[in-house]
Amino acid sequence: MGTHRRVLVVEDEPVINGAVTDRLAAAGYDVVRAFDGPGAVEAFRASEPDLVVLDVMLPGLDGHEVCRRIQAVRPVPVLMLTAADDETDVLVGLAVGADDYLTKPFRMRELVARVAALLRRVERAAELTDTGAGDLGDLGDLRVDPGARRVWTGDDEVHLTPTEFDLLLRLAASPGVVLTRERLLREVWDWPGASGTRTVDSHVKALRAKIGAERVRTVHGVGYALETGSTR
Ligand code: CA
Repeated sequence: MGTHRRVLVVEDEPVINGAVTDRLAAAGYDVVRAFDGPGAVEAFRASEPDLVVLDVMLPGLDGHEVCRRIQAVRPVPVLMLTAADDETDVLVGLAVGADDYLTKPFRMRELVARVAALLRRVERAAELTDTGAGDLGDLGDLRVDPGARRVWTGDDEVHLTPTEFDLLLRLAASPGVVLTRERLLREVWDWPGASGTRTVDSHVKALRAKIGAERVRTVHGVGYALETGSTR
């Protein structure tokens, strides 16, 4: 990773906050801490972190509202911590701009791996933007500009989170081709293992809600494919 990346850890439970902070600091990150919602927004503005680890249940403002507010200040990768494996929590989190989530209790090693993968992905995306890649091929009335990281359906611009954009870009690179969830996990999330295929499902669900459900075809038990508009 080279230079020190700064991570803002937002968690009101002192023991968990301390454990996450210690582990990330040991992994070489510069860590800033906050213990409630308003404090998180303030710390975000003051410290300009490269990534935010954000608990959902917080005093003051909840994690979803914090995520919405900080994403409005500046787009930043967010790893959400959810108390239970609650699909609603996850979907709301993704809708307000979280990129990934971990369900409590989680292993510290897993947290560090997710943080590293998320930062790698953002940096790779920035490199792609720098090379000024052009438009993709014919995707029907869906238009994707990889360089500017912008998406339109017809004349309407669609606002995607960084992860949703990367997922769409991967699907759009091979329109009509079915990509397995394991492959998407490897190529979009940069996870070597095949655990966490539910993460793929959740992000596909969020992506569908924004670009139209019919544009992403599910092949049950296999994976997903981008439709190119002939079905509309
Ligand atoms: Ca909490």
